[in-house]
Amino acid sequence: MGQVADDAFDAAIRSGEIDEQMKFAGARRCNHRLRATEGDECPTCLDLGWIDKDGNPCEP
Ligand SMILES: [Zn+2]
Repeated sequence: MGQVADDAFDAAIRSGEIDEQMKFAGARRCNHRLRATEGDECPTCLDLGWIDKDGNPCEP
């Protein structure tokens, strides 16, 4: 249990760092995970998870 919690905590920290870097670059996270169903590719970000300041799919 402890190891799982540690891993989740580390992942959250890394995710936060990525958020900061991507926001600094003008990108934003795609919210497709809130609505996409299994097997569907996101039409907005092509499953990359991020959209850059020009609205194009990108990844961190
Ligand atoms: Zn998406």
